Amino acid sequence: MSTTVIKPDFETAQKHFIFTQEHEDLRESMEEWVKNELYPHRMEWEETKWPDWAMERAGELGYLGLCFPEEYGGQGGDYYYSLVRAEALSHAGSGGLGMGFAVQTDMVLPPIEMLGTEEQKERFLAPGIQGKRIGCLGITEPGAGSDVASIRTTAKLEGDEYVINGSKTFITNAARADFIVLVAKTDPDAGHNGISLLLIDIRDEEGNELPGFSVAQNLEKMGMAASDTCEIAFEDMRVPADSILGEVGKGFYHITWELQGERLVAAAGSNAGAERLLETSIEYAKDREAFGRPIGKFQSIRH
Ligand SMILES: Cc1cc2nc3c(=O)[nH]c(=O)nc-3n(C[C@H](O)[C@H](O)[C@H](O)COP(=O)(O)OP(=O)(O)OC[C@H]3O[C@@H](n4cnc5c(N)ncnc54)[C@H](O)[C@@H]3O)c2cc1C
Repeated sequence: MSTTVIKPDFETAQKHFIFTQEHEDLRESMEEWVKNELYPHRMEWEETKWPDWAMERAGELGYLGLCFPEEYGGQGGDYYYSLVRAEALSHAGSGGLGMGFAVQTDMVLPPIEMLGTEEQKERFLAPGIQGKRIGCLGITEPGAGSDVASIRTTAKLEGDEYVINGSKTFITNAARADFIVLVAKTDPDAGHNGISLLLIDIRDEEGNELPGFSVAQNLEKMGMAASDTCEIAFEDMRVPADSILGEVGKGFYHITWELQGERLVAAAGSNAGAERLLETSIEYAKDREAFGRPIGKFQSIRH
């Protein structure tokens, strides 16, 4: 039986079996930007939430479109650039900012790229890559988290419109988002095959909530305070029938596909955050002295 095992190729100049020199160059330039323009604000943003200009600036520098096609303003790179971005953002010292960015680049935009019509890509993907329009993703509900198929939000087809009713919770970026990728039941009796994705505007150009949509609560959290996490409500919100993203009835499969990339990026970002903490701790252990020597010289701390 033959098996394929990915191993580092020690004969090549590439130091890592995933990341090439181009990935490393991007990492270096992005880390520098993050340290210079984002890191200084990290404490302030724990109070105020991260500002929209940070996303727009990232778009201007090309950091939001790393893995998206050039025709929509992206750089056309491979998936590993997403991991580099998540790791570079850990230098901002703000988990909330990293999470808000990851929702845009790794949760909201990928399904639009994969499933969207040309019109949806022009309206949502291209300005999303520029950081000019911010998106959010609505899966979780007060009564449904891990068990996605038990959601209750409905989108009922009436003529040439869907009428949306229900509520979602823990929705990152919802306090500021222009649009949402929403998971709803279009056929409540069809189980997993009755769920669809809808791609809809939730605010107008001035930032006002559209009729039928509202933020019920901006939740207080124990951490990640720089990120907004909201409970949102839909009450007879009417949207055009062509708001469906992908195929009607295939939303469960579409969203579980999306979750694969999302979870890996979250892991890369979290791991990088832990590395930053370790670096800071080592530095402190070298500087801080007790009983006439750096505390890092004591056995348990050295371990
Ligand atoms: C800061 C933050 C931001 C978020 N942003 C978003 C967002 O933007 N959009 C969005 O849709 N959601 C978002 N979420 C929600 C998140 O995706 C859910 O919290 C997650 O899916 C888990 O759902 P739950 O919290 O309802 O947990 P539950 O499903 O109630 O699970 C609770 C516990 O039970 C365990 N459990 C559940 N089922 C099983 C099982 N079958 N076997 C063994 N153990 C099980 C879980 O592991 C967990 O430990 C966010 C959450 C947080 C905390």
